[in-house]
Amino acid sequence: MTPHPPAMKTGGQRRRVVVLGSTGSIGTNCLDVISRFEDRLEPIGLSAHTRWPDLAEQARRFRPRWVTLTAADAGRQAMHSFDGVCQLLHGEKGIATMVTDPDVDLVVAAIVGSAGLMGTWTALEAGKTVAVANKETLVMAGPLVMELAQQRGARVLPVDSEHSAIFQALQCGQTSEVARVVLTASGGPFRGKALTELADVTVADALRHPTWKMGTKITVDSATLMNKALEIVEARWLFGLEPEQIEVIIHPESIIHSFVEFTDGSILAQLSPPDMRLPIQYQLSPPDMRLPIQYALTYPERWPGPARRMNWRELQALHFEQPDPETFPALELGHEVARRGGTCGAVLNAANEAAVSQFLAGKMTFLDIPRACREVLNNHHFSPRPTLTELSDVDRWARQEVDRISKVGLRLASGGKRHS
Ligand code: MG
Repeated sequence: MTPHPPAMKTGGQRRRVVVLGSTGSIGTNCLDVISRFEDRLEPIGLSAHTRWPDLAEQARRFRPRWVTLTAADAGRQAMHSFDGVCQLLHGEKGIATMVTDPDVDLVVAAIVGSAGLMGTWTALEAGKTVAVANKETLVMAGPLVMELAQQRGARVLPVDSEHSAIFQALQCGQTSEVARVVLTASGGPFRGKALTELADVTVADALRHPTWKMGTKITVDSATLMNKALEIVEARWLFGLEPEQIEVIIHPESIIHSFVEFTDGSILAQLSPPDMRLPIQYQLSPPDMRLPIQYALTYPERWPGPARRMNWRELQALHFEQPDPETFPALELGHEVARRGGTCGAVLNAANEAAVSQFLAGKMTFLDIPRACREVLNNHHFSPRPTLTELSDVDRWARQEVDRISKVGLRLASGGKRHS
């Protein structure tokens, strides 16, 4: 990462923050943090896709300068909900108006899925600091995004809990002094299962997992470990690591959020207790996302925030296991995509999104999700240095391929041949 002046303003001026995707899980946690620091942080712009009633409530509470609704029909319905409260903007133009405004200091990019790329891109073009909560952006277009940030003197800050942990540990050394990073994974609801036991997994089985109030897509991604695969790719580009420097370990307590091992053998980790506001299921509890969000908002400072403190009297043991590559082939896909780069990230991301939709619709089995991703990855026309347009083309193609496969069936029983 490039050196950058301290993020905080001096002279008692509040830091002006735009929250893209403010009605989602990261967005609401972000506003919860901001509400504790009303004298230091100002939410100047908010955006939602369809949930305009929630957005209207947030607007009345936080009095931003603008809000943007990105879904066209939601905008029409909501027309008068923001009268006298703030300026209502629409679509990508609205997002661009907010994130490029000279008054804005920081953009939190929490729009889910590939739709999140545009806001981050536009903000970085304008030289803004962007706290990226949307991992798809870095999986799809990591090299382009990081290159743009460098060109414009903009900074990308991680919000994903594992990447925030790595980023925090990296404050103790240089990236060139890193031997490897180890991403922790809760293991999901099927931890310890054999591949054959997952053949009949239903949608309900996969979703009954620690929902952690996340959407259904990321819940399925936690069950296949595809979430961790995407995080391998995210770490590769975010920190400029070599793919072989990134490892994964299962840590069911989710208290250690990742490790950085330096060249001298020292290992630094970031720990924090789980979020007790959310239900514990399968003996797994989610991380309190307010902590990584707050670190991105206050970096390079630390402020006393709302995250729960560790109760050292309750803490008894931390456990680790090796992930089973046979049961969870998604992990190998993550390593491969991190190695090959180019168009592979966009293909994996899109194929997985489409395969998860097919699984949720009952048109694919649970085990078909990584198989479909493998097949589409093998069959795609690889390009080592794609443009944004090429990435969006390959994204569209990969989704169509998965839909086609779900109709005709997978060609792969095991392995698979590449053809161009
Ligand atoms: Mg994560």
